[in-house]
Amino acid sequence: MKKAARIDGKAFAARLREKVGEHALAFAAKAGRKPGLAVVLVGEDPASQVYVGSKGKACVAANMDSFEHRLPVETSEADLLALVERLNADATVDGILVQLPLPDHIDEQAVIAAIHPDKDVDGFHVINAGRLAVGQVGFVPCTPLGCMMMLTERLGDLSGLEAVVIGRSNIVGKPMAQLLLAANATVTIAHSRTRDLAEVVRRADIVVAAVGRPEMIRSDWLKPGATVIDVGINRLPPEPGRDKGRLVGDVAYDEASEVAGAITPVPGGVGPMTIAVLLRNTLVAAHRNEGLAPPEGL
Ligand code: NAD
Repeated sequence: MKKAARIDGKAFAARLREKVGEHALAFAAKAGRKPGLAVVLVGEDPASQVYVGSKGKACVAANMDSFEHRLPVETSEADLLALVERLNADATVDGILVQLPLPDHIDEQAVIAAIHPDKDVDGFHVINAGRLAVGQVGFVPCTPLGCMMMLTERLGDLSGLEAVVIGRSNIVGKPMAQLLLAANATVTIAHSRTRDLAEVVRRADIVVAAVGRPEMIRSDWLKPGATVIDVGINRLPPEPGRDKGRLVGDVAYDEASEVAGAITPVPGGVGPMTIAVLLRNTLVAAHRNEGLAPPEGL
């Protein structure tokens, strides 16, 4: 049987990061400063510490300034909001990212709402969600934008294609569906209450899985030749003698690649795109903040 093409998100992300790095140098030559990203972490969640560390390193590697703010877990909401206000007012900061989840005593929505929409490089602010919904220029969440970049590189024009997005979260499923709609695909959003999910997925030319259930989507759910984007990151229980279980996506990769036309692996697919798009969004924010036209084709 023919094997699906493997969509190499790692290589795509490396190319994007390099392009962003070149444009960041050109920006610095014009603006007299580097693009800057502030990343705020409250508490010591180990996964969040790793993410924040990688975002900082990626910024520096892309010729950008990284401003890290690591705050103790007992930081009050008022103090966090005050920091966000200072970053909003700081002209050297183009993008502000508050690492989620926040500790329980802090209202995440209040913090996201406090970030200036033009520095909201995560695209989580309701103003940016609204801009995306009505087709205005704003910031789009990094993970779905990265998926869209891989889809358009692979398929070109998405007009009239049937797309099924599985998952309706504010950070992945919903913005993904908006992006596909804006690209003229015929979009279905499936979720935990969808009846006969396999049947819905079977009509899709494009499947985007953002559920968080290991290998839920099987090969017999797929239309032959479909393009499959697997956003899910799930850790299986460790095999005997191992410390950690394997990482798998929401799609059963091996069997799905016997039916699909193209598929993203996990790891090495969507994951690496997220940070690359964050850098891209920060570069775009820097241009807008300085009244410069953002580079085209990014
Ligand atoms: P979420 O938990 O907020 O949303 C999951 C969605 O899946 C919900 O809308 C729910 O309706 C749907 N769902 C749950 N069970 C279902 C079922 N049985 N059938 C159909 N739909 C079902 O998750 P999220 O934040 O959107 O993330 C989804 C997955 O993507 C997770 O595995 C997460 O780790 C991963 N993720 C990866 C990246 C990346 O950079 N690659 C970024 C964000 C999220």
